[in-house]
Amino acid sequence: MAAKKLAIVLPAYNEEEVIEKTTARLHGLLLSMIENKKITSDSFIMYVDDGSKDRTWELVNQLRAQYGQVQGIRFSTNFGHQNALIAGMTHLTGTDVDYVVTIDADLQDDPEAIVDMVDLANAGKDIVYGVRNDRTTDTLFKRYTAQGFYKVMSALGVNSIPNHADFRLVNQKVLKAFSAYQEREMFLRGIFPLIGFNEGRVYYARAEREAGETKYPLRKMIQFAATGITSFSISPITFVRNLGIGIFGISILFLIYIFFGWAFGKTSTGWPTLMVSIWMLGGLQLVAIGIIGEYIGKIFMEVKHRPRYIIAEELNDYDEQA
Ligand code: UDP
Ligand code: MG
Repeated sequence: MAAKKLAIVLPAYNEEEVIEKTTARLHGLLLSMIENKKITSDSFIMYVDDGSKDRTWELVNQLRAQYGQVQGIRFSTNFGHQNALIAGMTHLTGTDVDYVVTIDADLQDDPEAIVDMVDLANAGKDIVYGVRNDRTTDTLFKRYTAQGFYKVMSALGVNSIPNHADFRLVNQKVLKAFSAYQEREMFLRGIFPLIGFNEGRVYYARAEREAGETKYPLRKMIQFAATGITSFSISPITFVRNLGIGIFGISILFLIYIFFGWAFGKTSTGWPTLMVSIWMLGGLQLVAIGIIGEYIGKIFMEVKHRPRYIIAEELNDYDEQA
């Protein structure tokens, strides 16, 4: 089989501490795969600098001079991990690159798994998911919250792959199909299983971050989980509707009960029941409005059709030839 052209896309947000190590490691990996004739010698690494405030972009430039085979895109400001991945993939759609692998810049996902991914792709898989079979290096908190999240997602009928983050290989067929998904707020892990085609999986153990600290604090994690759920399911709204119907039904029964009580001469002060009903219903209504508001907010974000990201600068081979 003829060697394929591979591009490894890495989102990077303030990764000055790790990016040199990462590049050295991936470059070594590229060389050995080139030597084994699995990939072509013009395969490359592409950083998407997500508006870093540290020396990340400077280092990308430096690494490009040092290794060649390094390309880069720099966002004008921080647009988020998912948008960085989208930018990298969009950039490579319709080019002569055969396979695009996305992987985090901190190398928590085992780069060696890329070799297996390429093998599977060569064996006819269009999309290969990296799946963590060992999360012992993640904190207990992260593991449990992640597990809970996958459970909620599947309960809501969203087909996502448990323990698969955004470490995956896609070919041009998948990239082209992906380009038709134009929503602003993307949850890639939920989108790719929808695209279909021939799927493969590669299992690996998740490692510690090489250096630096997580760029996903709790706040971003919650936001990310909420996007995942509201992007793929309207079950929360259905739940609110059913709850409303249920409460309405019960209140009608209660009304009938009170009416008969009154008809048979029973009167009560009723203050406690009144207070409880008001507070309970008030609370439920706020929750319901909140959930519905969440979706309306989402519609608002989508109809504005703002750009998902803005590119400030690019380093690629095409520009150099021009
Ligand atoms: N990242 C990004 N933009 C952000 C946050 C993170 O591009 O706003 C990148 C980050 O540089 C890394 C990847 O996304 O390459 C995953 O982030 P991180 O390792 O901090 O997340 P964790 O592994 O802790 O979930
Ligand atoms: Mg990480």
